[in-house]
Amino acid sequence: MDELEYQVFKAIDSGRGRMIRTLQDLLKIDTQVPPGHDYDKICEILEEKYNHLGYTTSLHEASEKYMKLSGAKHICLEGPRTNLVARLNGEGDGPTLHISAHTDTAAIQKQGWSVDPFGGELTKTSKYGKSDYDKGGGYIWGRGVGDDKGETAALLLALEAMNEVGVKLKGDLVVTANCDEEIGGVAGLGYLIREGIVKANIGIQLDGSLTGIGLSAMGRTRFLIRTGGKSYHGQVPILGINAIEKMSKLNVALNDYWRNVLLKRKYETPGIDFGEGLRVKGITCPTGMLNMGTIKGGVQGATVPDTCEEEVLRGMIPGETYKDTCAEFNAVLNGVKVTDADLQYELETINFREGYVVPATDPYALECQALIQEAIGKKLPFTGTLASTDMNYQVVDGHMPCINFGVGGPYSNGHSQDENASLDEILECAKAVALITMRKLKVK
Ligand SMILES: [Zn+2]
Repeated sequence: MDELEYQVFKAIDSGRGRMIRTLQDLLKIDTQVPPGHDYDKICEILEEKYNHLGYTTSLHEASEKYMKLSGAKHICLEGPRTNLVARLNGEGDGPTLHISAHTDTAAIQKQGWSVDPFGGELTKTSKYGKSDYDKGGGYIWGRGVGDDKGETAALLLALEAMNEVGVKLKGDLVVTANCDEEIGGVAGLGYLIREGIVKANIGIQLDGSLTGIGLSAMGRTRFLIRTGGKSYHGQVPILGINAIEKMSKLNVALNDYWRNVLLKRKYETPGIDFGEGLRVKGITCPTGMLNMGTIKGGVQGATVPDTCEEEVLRGMIPGETYKDTCAEFNAVLNGVKVTDADLQYELETINFREGYVVPATDPYALECQALIQEAIGKKLPFTGTLASTDMNYQVVDGHMPCINFGVGGPYSNGHSQDENASLDEILECAKAVALITMRKLKVK
């Protein structure tokens, strides 16, 4: 590490108090999705901070087309989908680095919180365990501290420290505070990258943890299936057509398709670990998945139901496209329909994003692994997830090699009640971001 980098790390340490205040300000804004209100308000706070650092900023509201692709009506999204793009142009030749963190949060449970989810309370310890990075600096509490407002604050702290020390960049830095990640990111980073508003050579997605470097995630398509029937008196069902019965037939076929076809569909990812929990179930790489998530139908027991609606999530391995996934899914349903003249169904897509993998041999991934080790003193393994993240837009649509890391672990209760994060860990995350950014972009 050179003198300048050392100074930046010192500035990160001494910016702790400012970082806490920023994070508390971000926590106060309720951006849980759905509905995803107040993205404009959170962007306003961040925009002012980036302007102050000399970044050029712009706000981008997803168009109606992207709202539709998000499944906005079905998911009950409300309010403008505001995204912030902040740029710092380098002074010479160098790659463009894009760093993304999302502004929305998972929904807040009405019950079971022992702290105010918007409060940003500070404690010495966490009753849910200890972060590996905790050096006694305490914990902060509230929805988003680990996913993803803590990362947003870590990123800002890293860039403030670089500014304070006077780091000059040769390549361009593009930072996005993008919305709607938790419900698919279509109107957030999806919009920014697919519309060409954000273009870069390399990327960092700050939506993970410091337990591993995320290189792979699944895609998904959320389908809505509707079956129709003919209502009749429930004691004379022979004269009606039962929409729930028809959905059950489709579900038998979908279950067979999942267990016997999809579970055998694998995308080998050597060198990327999907975790012990999945390994005991025989899953060591992206594998086709299917979940029947909701089912609704009928009005009462004494009436033959004439409608039934079900939501199904289809987990797609890297390389599976939305188009092929849709065609195959339809073929499964159609295979049932041809055996039953009374079976009527409609298939709708709520939204989708495709899966990705950055190989464990990718030079950028390996370089970042070494830099993170230099920054935090730990060599993190390459990891993958069956869930999905906004990194898919960076890799699949933006064609940039990318890595994912961030804040939080088993102790931090991401998406659950009492979300908390170690402050020391947020600072470590900031150091990792700063070191990668400097080594890739800094004027030597
Ligand atoms: Zn997240």
